[in-house]
Amino acid sequence: MTSNVSQTMQIAVLGSTGSIGVSTLDVLQRHPERYRVAALTAHSNVTRLFEQCMVHRPTFAVVSSATHAQKLTADLRAAGSATQVLWGEQALCDVAAHAQVDTVMAGIVGAAGLASTLAAAHAGKRILLANKEALVMSGPLFIKAVCDGGATLIPVDSEHNAIFQCMAGHRSARPENQPPQVRPAGVRRVLLTASGGPFLRTSYDDLRNVTPEQACAHPRWVMGRKISVDSATLMNKGLELIEACLLFNLPPSQVDVVVHPQSIVHSLVEYLDGSMLAQLGNPDMRTPIAHALGWPERIASGVESLDIVRAGRLDFEAPDLERFPCLKLAREAAEAGGTAPAVLNAANEVAVGAFLERRLAFVEIPRVIGAVLAQHSVRSADSLQDVLRADEWARGAAAVTLGSGACA
Ligand code: NAD
Ligand code: MG
Repeated sequence: MTSNVSQTMQIAVLGSTGSIGVSTLDVLQRHPERYRVAALTAHSNVTRLFEQCMVHRPTFAVVSSATHAQKLTADLRAAGSATQVLWGEQALCDVAAHAQVDTVMAGIVGAAGLASTLAAAHAGKRILLANKEALVMSGPLFIKAVCDGGATLIPVDSEHNAIFQCMAGHRSARPENQPPQVRPAGVRRVLLTASGGPFLRTSYDDLRNVTPEQACAHPRWVMGRKISVDSATLMNKGLELIEACLLFNLPPSQVDVVVHPQSIVHSLVEYLDGSMLAQLGNPDMRTPIAHALGWPERIASGVESLDIVRAGRLDFEAPDLERFPCLKLAREAAEAGGTAPAVLNAANEVAVGAFLERRLAFVEIPRVIGAVLAQHSVRSADSLQDVLRADEWARGAAAVTLGSGACA
């Protein structure tokens, strides 16, 4: 056990007003002797950020616009708070890389979290990664930034956290405290479990008419709207497939997806000798968050014990790629590599945004993404500029596809 993990850890919670952010603060509040909140950030939810600042007393609070910063500053001053309010993307990067910060919870949704998560990597922070889109977009570049910066990357996504835990007992080939990017020897494959989302049993015809409200009513997990839609299309599992390849240094052929409607087994690792290790628990993100915060120690999360007798049974089935083609598109992008995952992610963000605004039918989401990928000539993604260029191109191409109805 190293001694520094037992000292007070200074944490920046990026995206603190979101689902991951709120769960993170819940866990942190249970361990005031162990953690101090150094920074909180939000896009525009000034009301919730104000309340969080009053409870957690961070040194910094960051919002996206000057207007929101003015309002938050005024509210905090009136309440006697000393928290310094900053705004804009550079401020996000500054707090993520700040000397006072040891650990960064990357809890912003989508490509908006890329720059700050990369800044944390370059600055050698301990990164608790929820923001899968940042990793999917920038891929090997991100892993290189982690290695070059001397950062530690711990997955928070429940499946990847489960895999990390299932690999931990096989650490003999790795030095103590090594980050999880290097796969231990003897792994045959990993199996990502998927709940199947709210439309697991919905026919294709009925999928045509589903609403954002239905898509966001996830049967097992309470999450932000974007990831809820991704779970309903299975794109979330597609992004997670790419995430697993990058985190555990595996080719896509060694990452399988299995539908497990109970969401109790959070993923599995199969070893060469035929052993399969799984991590089980109630579907509550506070478990992987507490694991990532405490690692390599274990800390309480507030999550109830899993009652396996009451759960009774665990079912597994193959995903239906006909009704949920996003998973297939993501696997193809993972195999193509280079700029393909960034293009997949950007087209998905645009299509999901349009669906949430009721400008696009649910079944058109994969068609938009497929149309954009079909137009893309994959290039190498050796620099951040390559990634950002691919992201911008794909957003434009997706908008054109949406406008023209060319995906139908
Ligand atoms: P959410 O929508 O609930 O919260 C997103 C957070 O990001 C909010 O604090 C918001 O203010 C901030 N944000 C949004 N746009 C921003 C912008 N342009 N600039 C700066 N900040 C911005 O999302 P969530 O469900 O908490 O998900 C966050 C990330 O964690 C996503 O990448 C998601 O895939 C991942 N994740 C979430 C869960 C979950 O259970 N919610 C599970 C696994 C992984
Ligand atoms: Mg997940």
